[in-house]
Amino acid sequence: MTDIIQQQFSLQVGKLGIQLSNQQLAQFETYYCLLVEWNEKMNLTGITDRDAVYEKHFFDSLTLAEVVPFDTTKSLADIGSGAGFPSIPLAIVFPHLQITIIDALAKRIRFLEEVTSQLGMTNITCLHGRAEDVARKREHRDQYDVVTARAVARLAALNELCLPFVRPGGVFIAMKGTDISTELDEARYSLTKLNAKILDVKQLMLPTEGADRHLIICSKKGPTPSTYPRKSGIPLKTPLLKPEKANTIK
Ligand code: SAM
Repeated sequence: MTDIIQQQFSLQVGKLGIQLSNQQLAQFETYYCLLVEWNEKMNLTGITDRDAVYEKHFFDSLTLAEVVPFDTTKSLADIGSGAGFPSIPLAIVFPHLQITIIDALAKRIRFLEEVTSQLGMTNITCLHGRAEDVARKREHRDQYDVVTARAVARLAALNELCLPFVRPGGVFIAMKGTDISTELDEARYSLTKLNAKILDVKQLMLPTEGADRHLIICSKKGPTPSTYPRKSGIPLKTPLLKPEKANTIK
């Protein structure tokens, strides 16, 4: 039996071209319960109302399906996944995807291991580490069809954390909120340095709340130059900005 929140969710993701089975709806509900339960012991999310989690976390994560042909995508890396967004909703809906989750906080990785175990998922690898360090490993560098990140950092810094994971010809999609024009402008320098360019920017809206969302799609032209990413902590502290802007952006 499904309730009104699940029916609304099914309807809205249907508009993204996704048909959810009852088993997938049950997996979302189990994930919701674990999220709220573990959130009492550790800081996972500020959003806990059930309808809000379904829209602002689950639906929002799945909007990637608007711009990624997941049927023909094999591998995806989610950098700074936190409580599992967008990777866990994507793993529920697209079980053929090989997903790698990377997060710098060990307790969040422990939570995600519990989620993947309870949901019986075999398509997810959870890695504890900083993106800057993991991207130096051969098995992760220049490897993934799609790399994504939601609510991790400004685009100029995020490019350096995420693009090294993308295989040449693959894409990095930054999931962003309302106001992106300044961010986009300041990110252009880092894209050039990292052998990438912006392919498209897709604007979306959350169905009930009406809040704006943006998906910034960057394609990678060739392997990441060996100088990137710089040492752990540097990309966030000193993002790759055009020299005259470097001193003015905090
Ligand atoms: N993507 C999730 C979401 O949309 O709800 C989580 C966002 S949370 C605000 C940011 C996450 O990025 C945190 O879990 C943090 O540990 C992780 N993070 C920040 N810098 C990182 C880095 N350099 N490498 C890996 N993870 C990082």
